[in-house]
Amino acid sequence: MAKEKKEKNFRKIKRNNSWISILFFTLAIGLLTVLVLAFVEFLFSYAVDSKASGQYESIKYMARLYDSNANIEETEKYKLLNEEGREYFIIDNNGEVIYSYGKNTCSDIGKTVYLGISDENVVAYKDTEIGYVYPTNNHALYLDYKSFIKNEFKIDEDGVFIGTRDEGDRTIDYDRINNLDNLDDMEYASEINDIVSNKLPVWLSVDMGDKTLIAKAYITLSANDLGLFMIMGIVMSFIVIILFIIVVSNVISGFVRQRRITNFFFTDHVTKSHNWMWFKTKGEQFLRRGSTAKNKYAIINLVFVKYRTFCLCHSIEEGEDVLRKVNDLILSKLEKKEMCAHVTNSNFALLLHYTDADDLDASIKALITELEQIDTEHKFAFQAGINKLDVKKDENGKILKRKDLDIDKEYNNACAARATFEGSEDSGVAYFDNKLVEEQKWIDMVQEKQQQALDNEEFQVYYQPKYDPRTNELRGAEALIRWQSPEYGFVSPGRIIPIFEKNGFITEIDHYMIQHVAKDQKAWLDKGLKCVPVSVNVSRAHFIESDLAEQIRDMIDKEGTPHNLIEIELTESAFFDDKNAMINTIEKLKSYGFAVSMDDFGSGYSSLNSLKDMPLDVLKLDAEFFRGDNDNNRGEIVVTEAIKLAKSLNMRTVAEGVEIKEQVDFLAEQGCDMIQGYYFAKPMPKDEYEQRMSN
Ligand code: C2E
Ligand code: CA
Ligand code: CA
Repeated sequence: MAKEKKEKNFRKIKRNNSWISILFFTLAIGLLTVLVLAFVEFLFSYAVDSKASGQYESIKYMARLYDSNANIEETEKYKLLNEEGREYFIIDNNGEVIYSYGKNTCSDIGKTVYLGISDENVVAYKDTEIGYVYPTNNHALYLDYKSFIKNEFKIDEDGVFIGTRDEGDRTIDYDRINNLDNLDDMEYASEINDIVSNKLPVWLSVDMGDKTLIAKAYITLSANDLGLFMIMGIVMSFIVIILFIIVVSNVISGFVRQRRITNFFFTDHVTKSHNWMWFKTKGEQFLRRGSTAKNKYAIINLVFVKYRTFCLCHSIEEGEDVLRKVNDLILSKLEKKEMCAHVTNSNFALLLHYTDADDLDASIKALITELEQIDTEHKFAFQAGINKLDVKKDENGKILKRKDLDIDKEYNNACAARATFEGSEDSGVAYFDNKLVEEQKWIDMVQEKQQQALDNEEFQVYYQPKYDPRTNELRGAEALIRWQSPEYGFVSPGRIIPIFEKNGFITEIDHYMIQHVAKDQKAWLDKGLKCVPVSVNVSRAHFIESDLAEQIRDMIDKEGTPHNLIEIELTESAFFDDKNAMINTIEKLKSYGFAVSMDDFGSGYSSLNSLKDMPLDVLKLDAEFFRGDNDNNRGEIVVTEAIKLAKSLNMRTVAEGVEIKEQVDFLAEQGCDMIQGYYFAKPMPKDEYEQRMSN
C-alpha cells in the first residue's frame, strides 16, 4: 500500500507541474485577449458615441429650426431645413411621410439606443444601403451599430472584398464587387464610397410632438480615430506578446525544471546512467502496453559477484569504475527498447526481448563471458537470475495485455532465481520458476511452525542401527530426526535441517534430540534391555558456545543416562571453524566419557588435517564411497586405506549408506567395525528399534 501511494505521489508531482503551467498559460492568454478586446471595444464605442452625439445635436437643431419658425409656410420651413444639406424626412403620427429631402434610404429596422455623450435615448434606423462599415488597412469591419456585432471582410491587394454580410432582409455578397476603382456594379456604389470615406450612415429620429424628423447622419471615423485604435491595438498587442513570452518562458522553464527533477530521480549517481526508479517506471509502462503484449521479454537480475570484496581489496572508486564499465558494456549490447539500470552496488536490472529461449540463454552467457574479462588484470564473476515473461493468452488463444504487471515482483523473482547461487562465487545463469516460489513458501512455513512443532513434540527420534559386519550383532545406532506434522505429514530431515541450520534453530533441535535420546536410553536401561551407544548429530552452529560440552553433559545427567551410551557426531565441515575451540570441546566431551565421531568423512572438503589435530573416537565413512561405479577398484583402495588410517589413529570406523551384500563383505574383510545402512536397517521409530534391541 505504502509503495503504491509513493508511486502515485511521484506521478502526481510529474503531472501537476505541466497541468498548472498549461492552465495558467491558457487563463492568462484568455484573460489578456478579453481585456484587449474589451478595451478596443470601449474606445470604439466611445468614438462612435461621440460622433453620433455630434450628429444628433445638429439634427436636433433642424427640429428646433422647424419649431421656432411656427408662423411661416410649411414649404418655407422645409427650405430652411434643406439648407442644412442633410437628407431627411418627416413623418406624422401615423408614420405617413409628409416631406422627404434627398434620397430616402432609411430602413424600418430601428431600435432605441442610448447616446452616452448627449445623455439621451434616440431611435436609430439602419440605412438600407449599408450597415455600418469602416475599413482598416486590409479589413472591412462591419459594425452593427451599438450592438457591437462585427463581421470581418478581407480586402485583397486589388481592393476586392471577399465574404458575405448578412443583413437579415438581404445578403450582400462581396464577391460581386470586383474592384474599388473600377466599379461596374453601381448598385453598391454608395456603399463602396461610404466605405472608402469611412462614413457609417445611420438615420436618427427627433420627436417633434405631432411629427417626427428622421435624418441621415454619418458617423465618420477619421484617420485619427482609426490611428488611435491602431496605436492602442499595437500597444495592447505588445503587452499581450510580452505577457505571452513571460508565460511561455515560464512554462518552458517549468518543463525544464521538471525534466531536471525527473532526470535527478532517474539517474544513478555511480554509472551516471539509469537507475532502478527509471527501470521500474519506464519498464512497467512499456510492458503494460498493448503493443508489447505479443512479444516475449526477460527481466534479469545481474550481479557482480564479490563486488564488495573487490572494493575492499582495491578501493570503492575502482569498484565503481568497474560498475561503469559493466554498465557501458551492457548498454552497448542492448537492442532498441531493451533496458538496463544499475539498481544497487553489485546489482543490475535488465529487460531483454527474446524470441527463442535458447538464444536468450546463449546471449546472456556470452554477455557474462565478456563481462568476466572487462578488466585485463582481474577475472570477475557474474551471476544472472532470469525471469521470462511469456506471452499471456486467454483460453481462446487471444493475446492478453500485461496490464497488471508489477515489475517489482517480476524483478524480485529474477533476484530469487539469482539467489539460488548464494554461497557460490562462480558465474552462472539461473531461471526463475514456480518451484522456487514453492521452495520459498515451504521455508517460510517451516520457520513459522518450528517452535510450535518443537513445543508439541511433533519432532520424532528415529533410530538407525549400526551392525558389526562379521557377527551381524547390533553395536550402535544413530538418532535421526523426523517431523510428523499434523498438516504436512511425515517430513524427512533433508527438508528441514538445512533451514534450521540457516536460521539457527538447529541448536534447539540438537538439544531436543540429545534430551530425547538420553531419556530413551535411560528407559531402556531401566527395562533391562541390552543398550548400545546411540550417536546424536551436533551441528557446527553449536560450537560457538564455549560451554557446549557442559550443556550436553548436564542434559544427559538430568536423565541419569550413563555417558558411554551417548556418542556425539560432528560433521566434517564443522572442523573448519575455530579449530582450538573445537579441540577444546572434543577433549572436554571425551573427558566426560562421551565418544566423539567425525561424520561424513570423505565428503566435500579434505579433513585429513582435522584427523591430525582432533582426538576423535570414531570415523564415519561417507555414503558417497559406496555410490556409483567402482572403476578399477579405486574406491575400494581409498576405503581400505581410510580404515587403515583410522586404525592407526586408534579410531573405530563406521561405514554409512551401505546397501548391498558385496559391500558388507568387503568392509568386513577390511576390518570396518560397524555398518550403518539400508542393508541392515533403515532408520526406524523408537518402538521398532526397541524390539531390535530385545532380539
Ligand atoms: P547423516 O547424519 O549423514 O545421516 C545419515 C543419513 O543417511 C540419514 O538420512 C539416513 O537415513 C541415510 N542413510 C543411512 N543408510 C542409508 C542407505 O543405505 N542408503 C541411503 N540412500 N541412505 C541411507 P536422513 O535421516 O534423511 O538424514 C539426513 C541428514 O540430516 C543427516 O545426515 C544429518 O546430516 C541430518 N540430520 C538428521 N537428523 C538430524 C539431527 O537430529 N540433528 C542434526 N543436526 N542433523 C540431523
Ligand atoms: Ca550423522
Ligand atoms: Ca553421515
